[in-house]
Amino acid sequence: MSSADLRDLYQQVIMDHNKKPRNFHEMDDANHFAHGNNPLCGDALVVYVKLTDDVIEDVSFQGSGCAISVASASLMTEALKGKTIAEAEHIYQQVHKQMTGDEFDATALGKLEVLSGVKEFPARVKCATLSWHTMHTAMDNDHDVSVTTE
Ligand code: ZN
Repeated sequence: MSSADLRDLYQQVIMDHNKKPRNFHEMDDANHFAHGNNPLCGDALVVYVKLTDDVIEDVSFQGSGCAISVASASLMTEALKGKTIAEAEHIYQQVHKQMTGDEFDATALGKLEVLSGVKEFPARVKCATLSWHTMHTAMDNDHDVSVTTE
């Protein structure tokens, strides 16, 4: 993908997912959840995960934040539903790598590759990664925990 195409796609996808966030609701029967805060921007999200054995049966989020934080969370829930913990961990690592400019496995990312567009706005990288860190922490804990970006 050329960088101009990626930029256009980034704008479109972020706008679409911010306007109509997917899986944007509380989850009563979640067995993992965590609060994520990005004080630099004011993003505050809760990520809910329902794990059955080692499969993410359902994942959702709630909260408020800037367009990129909401869109990234929305894309994340779409990408992770139905994945195993190991697959989710792999995707999480690739998202991280693409935003920090490391080599990454584009096949594992699929649609999430648009998130790499945030690299052009370094101040927003923490907004884009907030939901991912929060999900990662939620999966590791079976009680509510708080994540704050630094
Ligand atoms: Zn933000």
